[in-house]
Amino acid sequence: MNVSKIKVTIFCPFCHGQHLDSGKYAIKPHKVHLCFHCGKKFKVGKPTIGVKNGSDMTLES
Ligand SMILES: [Zn+2]
Ligand SMILES: [Zn+2]
Repeated sequence: MNVSKIKVTIFCPFCHGQHLDSGKYAIKPHKVHLCFHCGKKFKVGKPTIGVKNGSDMTLES
């Protein structure tokens, strides 16, 4: 069984600000996140949603 978290705490690799997704991005996991602190985009390995605290919402793949 390969279960990965989709709601995770993510930090921007450029400015180290925490990335929080809102609106449509909070319901649709995505690989490329746009940092609202520095405006840069960064890629993660798996589609995820940035949340304040790591939740137990998982995605089976
Ligand atoms: Zn995002
Ligand atoms: Zn940033």
